[in-house]
Amino acid sequence: LTLAERASLVGPLDYKILKTIYSLHRNHEWIMTSELVEETGLRLNELQPVLLRLYNLRLLSKQIISGEYSYRITFTALDILAIKKLYVEKVLKNLGIVIGVGKESEVYVGYNFNDEPLIVKFHRVGKRSYKNIRKIRNIQKDKDWTVISVENAEREYQALDCVKKNYGYVPQPYGKAYNAVAMELVEGRELYKSELTNPEEILDQILSTIRIAYNECKMIHGDLSEYNVLVKDGTAYVIDWPQWSSPENEDLLIRDIDHILAYFYKKYEIDKDVDAVIDYIKGK
Ligand code: ADP
Ligand code: MN
Repeated sequence: LTLAERASLVGPLDYKILKTIYSLHRNHEWIMTSELVEETGLRLNELQPVLLRLYNLRLLSKQIISGEYSYRITFTALDILAIKKLYVEKVLKNLGIVIGVGKESEVYVGYNFNDEPLIVKFHRVGKRSYKNIRKIRNIQKDKDWTVISVENAEREYQALDCVKKNYGYVPQPYGKAYNAVAMELVEGRELYKSELTNPEEILDQILSTIRIAYNECKMIHGDLSEYNVLVKDGTAYVIDWPQWSSPENEDLLIRDIDHILAYFYKKYEIDKDVDAVIDYIKGK
């Protein structure tokens, strides 16, 4: 079943129970059946068939804790909560095909209520990368992956929103819900796959976007590279912002600039001085 097909199988009661389990994850990972009875006000014999159905749809995992079934939602369930919310908010009418699967996200094409295409990026901070992220951001030890994935979506939305409002070149964000961000579809290709006719101009656009992020939004991208820039009709869009950090982390700014300048030097022999570019970014 595709994500869209699964989403269409989730009815109002299923949705309510998934939402309840999700909100209880703020406190702990595994939610006991008795907690759900209490929280939803449903009787055990009403609740059990729904839990079984959600388990069979792979929207819940279960395990026995102290002799009682306990549940947690799966990534797919979190994606479905997001799809439903974006639908209710009239951002997303239909979900289409997957166009990218990264370490920590899945990127889909979707359609709005005018049947125009857009992008839906689902953040999926998996258990493997979870340890690293925790180390970098000093996240409290017992924080759940659902909570971290939702935070990443919020952070990415916040960055796109601020940089776009200040006229930087990023996809226009349309909305966020749970672990998903809906944004403008940039029908271009990644910088590393592009043969540029105007490399100087493209580099200038990237640097001016980084400058706007730094000065107006107090954000350093933190993962700037030829993989996180899309080029469309001679314009560069900087994507993939969830890991942004604040201006105190100057090392990250220097690393970002080093990275992108090295690419333009290697491929287009554009030779820019790192220190001068850093001064420009800082608005000096
Ligand atoms: P990650 O690298 O963390 O998986 P990205 O935000 O870089 O996430 O997205 C992964 C891929 O999805 C990109 O390389 C690009 O091909 C595609 N993509 C992401 N956002 C857009 C967008 N707004 N328009 C078009 N394609 C996109
Ligand atoms: Mn990326």
